[in-house]
Amino acid sequence: MKTALVCGAGGFIGSHLVKRLKAEGYWVRGVDLKYPEFSPTPADDFVIGDLRDPYFVRSVIDRRFDEIYQLAADMGGAGYVFTGEHDADIMHNSALINLNVLDAAYKRNCKRIFYSSSACMYPAYNQMDPENPKTAEHTAYPADPDSEYGWEKLFSERLYLAYHRNYGLEVRIARYHNIFGPEGTWIGGREKAPAALSRKVAVAKLKGLPYIEVWGDGQQTRSFLYIDECLEGTLRLMRSDFTGPVNIGSEEMVTINQLAALLMEIAGVQLEIRHVPGPVGVRGRTSDNALIQEKLGWKPSEPLRRGLERTYAWIEEQVRKAIAAGKL
Ligand code: NAD
Repeated sequence: MKTALVCGAGGFIGSHLVKRLKAEGYWVRGVDLKYPEFSPTPADDFVIGDLRDPYFVRSVIDRRFDEIYQLAADMGGAGYVFTGEHDADIMHNSALINLNVLDAAYKRNCKRIFYSSSACMYPAYNQMDPENPKTAEHTAYPADPDSEYGWEKLFSERLYLAYHRNYGLEVRIARYHNIFGPEGTWIGGREKAPAALSRKVAVAKLKGLPYIEVWGDGQQTRSFLYIDECLEGTLRLMRSDFTGPVNIGSEEMVTINQLAALLMEIAGVQLEIRHVPGPVGVRGRTSDNALIQEKLGWKPSEPLRRGLERTYAWIEEQVRKAIAAGKL
């Protein structure tokens, strides 16, 4: 039986990845500061602990796992990453996790390790034009990410590549672009645009409010990738002979206003959009999928609407329960 370790298994992508690996017949150990919030984990072993602690990391990487997935990070949406208030924690915590996990994997002779980088590492100067952002992998340098979160991702990419060059460790690096889906953070400050807007639309619908608020002018463009396709790309990359870094994202670019309109259509409501000041990030970003297509012969293709329908339905259910419990 193949064995896998998932770091960050209590989080959004990690908890879905554990389910997928279990469905494929793997023995899986999950590690996180917390259990998954929304459904029980099927992991064979789930260890609660802090990956910033190198002794703890050595204790969970206690064998030659066939596959290690390093997804743990101090992260969130624009409300967490782009205000600047969490910069020190983001850099310190995530860098320590990567330093510890990678080194323990190497010393334990593990064969293969996956690292989840982010589109946030691309230079801000290539993402000023909402119609034409550049995110081909080779455009990463000269580096100029617009957040410390992006700088940490860039540092860690280089760290993984250095272990590959110097120690022959098989590393696989993906640059995720805005992953969304059910059982992700939808409230509290760390949620991202699809979840935040789904919540706002659902609250307005269920409480009979006439409008929702959108940060900024809503003209900034983004693309969003549904969780199932993210996992498909991740596993294909992990089991290929391509190191990366490679984008895993959607090429279906929409403005935030269009995203809000699509969600209202799905919810069956017409609401006014009020634009309010808030952290927004770069003007435009979408995935460039030429390299993943070339190296893996595959790229995500599901329409945004399909994933949004599933995600909105799940979030409306959460909002309904929260309202019934007097929490919203
Ligand atoms: P998430 O916040 O839901 O999951 C990260 C998990 O890491 C959390 O459960 C958290 O508790 C855990 N963690 C944080 N610090 C830890 C520590 N010291 N010890 C143990 N566990 C710790 O985020 P996610 O959306 O599932 O993202 C997973 C990875 O993918 C992250 O590295 C993130 O930067 C990257 N990524 C995600 C997206 C996205 O759109 N979701 C986009 C780009 C990159």
